[in-house]
Amino acid sequence: MTRESTDILISGGGPAGLAAAAAFGSAGFSVICVDPTPPVTDGDAEGADLRTTAFLHPSRAVLQAAGLWDRLEPHAAALQVMRIVDAGGPVAEPRIVKDFDAADISDEPFGWNFPNWLLRREMVARLADLPTVSFRPGIATTALFTREAEARVTLSDGAIVTARLVVAADGRNSTIRQVLDIGVHTLRYGQKALAFAVTHPIPHHNISTEIHRSGGPFTLVPLPDRNGQPASAIVWMETGPEVARLAALPERDFEAEMNMRSCQILGPLKLATRRSVWPIISQVADRMTGERTALMAEAAHVVPPIGAQGLNMSLADLRVLLELAEADRAGLGGAKMLETYQRRRHLEVKARVAGIDALNRASMMGGQTFRDLRAAALDTLYSVAPLRRTMMRAGLGVR
Ligand SMILES: Cc1cc2nc3c(=O)[nH]c(=O)nc-3n(C[C@H](O)[C@H](O)[C@H](O)COP(=O)(O)OP(=O)(O)OC[C@H]3O[C@@H](n4cnc5c(N)ncnc54)[C@H](O)[C@@H]3O)c2cc1C
Repeated sequence: MTRESTDILISGGGPAGLAAAAAFGSAGFSVICVDPTPPVTDGDAEGADLRTTAFLHPSRAVLQAAGLWDRLEPHAAALQVMRIVDAGGPVAEPRIVKDFDAADISDEPFGWNFPNWLLRREMVARLADLPTVSFRPGIATTALFTREAEARVTLSDGAIVTARLVVAADGRNSTIRQVLDIGVHTLRYGQKALAFAVTHPIPHHNISTEIHRSGGPFTLVPLPDRNGQPASAIVWMETGPEVARLAALPERDFEAEMNMRSCQILGPLKLATRRSVWPIISQVADRMTGERTALMAEAAHVVPPIGAQGLNMSLADLRVLLELAEADRAGLGGAKMLETYQRRRHLEVKARVAGIDALNRASMMGGQTFRDLRAAALDTLYSVAPLRRTMMRAGLGVR
């Protein structure tokens, strides 16, 4: 049995765990990061994550600190305008179109969009450059024992690692969270999301478009051109049975349905990847800390993919953890650091999850009266300029 010690043990090498490993490793902490599932780093490979992540601009500073931004920037598609379309009338056509332009609040775009498989590729490459980080794909955390002074983590290869801080980034069913007996509050919608990429004849002009009718939003997020054609990532949310039906349709029938749902806003869409299906829930952990342990990302909070919040909230967790760790290196993983983390993140996370839950429920509305109310609310919120700007800042997570 091998025994070793490290400053930080990260359970989970999804996008959040890998970003955390890069950030702490870049700050000079020794890091071991484990994940039972080796990351798929090629978009065409079986099991590749075909979702994309729109990083909002507060996330860029964290990616810079982690030494990731310079690697990612050449692959970015900027998001300058967030267009909200209400197509909730009796006929599926746009009846209200509102553009939220980043220029109203900043000289920067709202954010930058990247395929998730590419994030993994660049993050794994960054870790290979960091002598402070040992990334171990194929290995899981299996047990955790903590004392005031340190945590002892057992790994699936039998190794025992002593760490000053354990970061649980092991997803919505987090092993570490369960070992610590931290409960979760989960909301289910009976809803799933289809995620895939398309090409289209009309350029997107860096506009991300969210179309609301019923069942959930249909969102087009800009991607760099694909084989010389304008391209977008799509997240299409619907009830579970409807997503199962859509996912099983032959390609041409699927394209016909998708073109009805998109209201042809970018012309006829052509499927460019396979379709992947994701379950949709909201979930918040009862606490974000245990002795010598911090929960982050989906181990602590899960939200429906609306307004590009999920991984951005995770990088906000990381920003606070990193700031506290660097401010008091000797206090890494101690009670003071973890109490401050809990205080700075948990209420904010709960408020954001509640806000996204409300937006998702509004987008799912099926009855005509409710859909008309939703359209009227969008119209009113948009027309009051200070309110509009406040909403845009809140969406980005800046004051
Ligand atoms: C359709 C869709 C679109 C989205 N779009 C956006 C967007 O535009 N912007 C945004 O910010 N967010 C977005 N999100 C959210 C974002 O994709 C997620 O927040 C993010 O992928 C979750 O990352 P994670 O690292 O927390 O979790 P995961 O990716 O679930 O990673 C957890 C990892 O932990 C590992 N693990 C599990 N058990 C163990 C163990 N015992 N030991 C060690 N490791 C373990 C797993 O193998 C896994 O690799 C979207 C989500 C969906 C569903």
